Amino acid sequence: MQKNIIFVIVDALRADRLESGGYYHNLALNINKIAESGLNFTDCHSTGCPTSVAFPSIWTSTMPLDYGGYANGVYGRPNMLSEELQSHGYQTFGITTGHPSSSQNGYDRGFDTFVDLIDMYQWFRSKYITNFKDDIDSWTSNSISDDDICKKISTSYGSMLVDTIKIISNINKYNVCNKRNNINKLHKALINEQNTLEINTMQIVCKLKQLKSNFSVAIGNPTVTKWIKVKIAYKKVLRFYLNRKIAFISNRKLNSGKVVNNVAKNILRGVNKERPFFMYIHYFDLHEYKFLIPQMSFKRLAHLPGDIFKAYKARGLKGGGFLYDLALINVDRHILELRNNINKNVDISNTLIVLTSDHGTYAGPPFRPKASSFEHLFFDNFTHVPLMINGIGIAAKTSHKLISHLDLAPSILDVSDIPISDNMQGTPVFDCEKGERDYVISESGGSGQCNISKKPFYISIRSKKIRCTYIINNFIPIEREVYDLYSDPDESINLIDTNYFMEWRNRFKSITKRRVKRLHKTSL
Ligand SMILES: [Zn+2]
Repeated sequence: MQKNIIFVIVDALRADRLESGGYYHNLALNINKIAESGLNFTDCHSTGCPTSVAFPSIWTSTMPLDYGGYANGVYGRPNMLSEELQSHGYQTFGITTGHPSSSQNGYDRGFDTFVDLIDMYQWFRSKYITNFKDDIDSWTSNSISDDDICKKISTSYGSMLVDTIKIISNINKYNVCNKRNNINKLHKALINEQNTLEINTMQIVCKLKQLKSNFSVAIGNPTVTKWIKVKIAYKKVLRFYLNRKIAFISNRKLNSGKVVNNVAKNILRGVNKERPFFMYIHYFDLHEYKFLIPQMSFKRLAHLPGDIFKAYKARGLKGGGFLYDLALINVDRHILELRNNINKNVDISNTLIVLTSDHGTYAGPPFRPKASSFEHLFFDNFTHVPLMINGIGIAAKTSHKLISHLDLAPSILDVSDIPISDNMQGTPVFDCEKGERDYVISESGGSGQCNISKKPFYISIRSKKIRCTYIINNFIPIEREVYDLYSDPDESINLIDTNYFMEWRNRFKSITKRRVKRLHKTSL
């Protein structure tokens, strides 16, 4: 039988904060064990940051700006890894905790079971920005009539309500105990909202105009009452005061790794042992490391003093990134729990664990001046991600070869003896050193919607020796940053005004030009 595969994405896990990635302190003992007793890649890079940019490459082995960009997730892209595995006999299960990686962006493709454990705050907010804002603004400025806005909102808001009910019903199916999201109350409110939309669409339009992206607070209420206004104002003041020194509370209400593990346990128990399975698990806890409250539970609270002591003893308070390390200790506990569940429920002798993250984040060193606009998202702490493969048939080894997230899906297919489709741009990481890349590319469409023909976009090329960043305006690349990675691994001195590394820089410039030319052609 083909190997079972457990694919774990720890959102925002920086490679350099693991001992296996060179950190001085081993705070993530269980993740480190996976790295040490498996194949550990120390120089793997994501194709972009944040989540929405990185995910298309992880799943389809195509670049973020290809296929019209990453704004709509994997819609319009070739087969996902999960689809390839499913069509070759795998049972496929997925759990995601981030809205950008949810079924709404097509990431449920190829999954027999896909659970969107997404944060509802982020979900409603993004719906307002992408689906309602433009229409409400046009109506407010009298560009469209009352009839028109009611027709538009009736359709867009109506389908948002249907999608939301679908998502929360799915969450309920897996017995997710999450009182803070208060799923059942929300379900009732959504049904009420559907009635209001049908009877008096203008009431909904007025609510959206008044509350904008906060509209979810009034779901279920036909109008914005005084009490709702007080509630919004109170929360705003509370957040302002509590978050002044340390970010205690977030608007987001993420589902923690504990919730994810409970759903995963239920799924693992029901796996058909006669067939191989692929299980994808996404943890969001580390992404929200600055916020202490959203991840609190009795268990987390009970562990907190011990975790603080452990982090303090290992690394002290100096150096920055203490909260990140604290959150990492907690995530590592989720990994241990997951491994225990795997050991109990499946044939471990035929199972592989693949662990990576989608991108990094700001959290302590290296400290560097913030680069202008989007270039900072290409620094090592944003693109350098861990990649470890552990289990049957994999010998313990550390590999320093330069690889990209593009190589991830082809590697998993390769290890599962499934042919790699021509659309995939990466190569399996197990291929002998002769096929080694000497550079990797990351890119970004800048802020908001990904529209490269109207906005500047960015490309960064990294070798073992140097890294260059380009800004592309009207499809013309301009070099913006050059870093010597050997003598300046923290990327603190921009060599743009020198004539160092001209051979590399000319080569990278022509690679960028070729990439831009291709993007220009497909954008026409
Ligand atoms: Zn992410």
